[in-house]
Amino acid sequence: MSTATPLALLIGSLALAAHAEAPPAPRIVVAISVDQFSSDVYAEYQPLFRAGLRRLGTGVVFPAGYQSHGATETCPGHSTILTGSHPSRTGIVGNEWIDQSLPRPDKVVYCVEDPAVAGSSSRNYTVSPQFLKAQTLGDRVKAAWPGSRVVSVAGKDRAAIMLGGHSIDQAWFWAKTRFTTLAGVTTPAPAVVGKVNAEVATELARPTPPKLSEACRSHSAAVSVGNRTVGILAEHKPNDSLGFQTSLAFDRATADIAIGLIHELRLGEGPAPDVLSIGLSATDYVGHVFGTGGAEMCMQVLGVDEGVGRILDALDATHQPYIVVLTADHGGLDLAERSRIHGMPDAVRVDPALLPANMGKALATEFNLKEPVLVGNNAFGDVYLASDLPAAIRVRVLEAARARYLAHPQVAAVFTAAELRRTPAPSSPVDEWSLAERYRASFDPDRSGDLIVALKPHVTGLPSAEPYVAMHGSPWNYDRRVPILFYRPGMAGFEQPLAVETVDILPTLAAQIALPIPAVEIDGRCLDLSGGSGDRCVADGNR
Ligand code: ZN
Repeated sequence: MSTATPLALLIGSLALAAHAEAPPAPRIVVAISVDQFSSDVYAEYQPLFRAGLRRLGTGVVFPAGYQSHGATETCPGHSTILTGSHPSRTGIVGNEWIDQSLPRPDKVVYCVEDPAVAGSSSRNYTVSPQFLKAQTLGDRVKAAWPGSRVVSVAGKDRAAIMLGGHSIDQAWFWAKTRFTTLAGVTTPAPAVVGKVNAEVATELARPTPPKLSEACRSHSAAVSVGNRTVGILAEHKPNDSLGFQTSLAFDRATADIAIGLIHELRLGEGPAPDVLSIGLSATDYVGHVFGTGGAEMCMQVLGVDEGVGRILDALDATHQPYIVVLTADHGGLDLAERSRIHGMPDAVRVDPALLPANMGKALATEFNLKEPVLVGNNAFGDVYLASDLPAAIRVRVLEAARARYLAHPQVAAVFTAAELRRTPAPSSPVDEWSLAERYRASFDPDRSGDLIVALKPHVTGLPSAEPYVAMHGSPWNYDRRVPILFYRPGMAGFEQPLAVETVDILPTLAAQIALPIPAVEIDGRCLDLSGGSGDRCVADGNR
């Protein structure tokens, strides 16, 4: 008699016992992304949380989640959260990239535009998921169970689309003066959208006087940046759209629409699990316009805490089993001026000489070429050789450009596309990846630059980028590290301080609803949330 049989029986009965204790599978899967909510911001303000963020903190907490890639921007970051894939697989290498073959004057491509639409440009576009090369959780759920509903609501269009994917039933995002949906949608808008848009119109038209909570008083201190002062609350002027986007009203309106859709669509009551993604975008605008260390960010994260609490209350009210994950598309860094006041002597602003147009000038002289020689929008990240450079000298110009960047004291590393293409997939934990490995994870041979420039740590933001005073987008951990919080009512929570990745979210959520994900299609790993009983990753073959 073989000994394998009793052992297999034993394992089988243990698995059955574990499954018997397991809670019912979620009927609503919810992903909340808080734009620019770094692990550092989460840690700094955590003692102040009283509502939703505090409740999520009783679940499974990964304080060191990683947006693993180098190009830590909004569109790439959101593309990882529900696809299980790095930007190298989603194709979303930046918020924008350059396509010099486009038959239009504007060669900049916006990540959720459709350039095939007549008159499209990166600034005036029709929103589309067509650049997203990967399937989202919503796409996969919809393919498995056509009766599922996929709902995506966000402040930013790129957040709504990258979280929702290719088969969204309800997409709502902010466009200049109101929340809107995809072009060509003919079904009537849910009632909540009209209601929220009317409230927002009233909100926009009136000034909002500053109101500082007692909890944020210790964060209120003035810092001078150029001719502005940040760190203390200021009044939002009427009809100021950036003022609205940095106010508590912006995320409140986004959450109101999400909550309204939970009720109106009776999420969780359909024939199969529904997927709801919510992008709370205001934290990013607050971070850019005021930095992360002042009264403005303190008030903003308290607003997120309250908004997430209201979303959880609405989910509770469905009486359906649900699971929530909350994370961020990237981290961020405070403005250099306050970082220096707060004991970080090497925090500086980037030298405008590093802009591709300026670097290209010297190359034009050196090689006797007409400008532009280098194309790109930023003083770091993707830099492209002008497509009309003669083939015979392209390699020499590329090497000369690399040498010029490397000679600059603010530059940490420069990679060519060929180098990144040859870089093998990393095998070490994500917090130990090399710079080349980080940039490889956001490299797409058709969309990335010919050179990728990494600045040294704590070098951020052009001096002339007003009203933005603080930036993200670097390959450094303050921009990569984001909290990942999983929460299901009644779950036994724990905290795991070791590094995990945002690409782990998709297989982890899929396992909760027994949706198989072929490992070869994604980069992430399923994380066991059970705390020891009934590992869904094993049960559903997602690991
Ligand atoms: Zn962002």
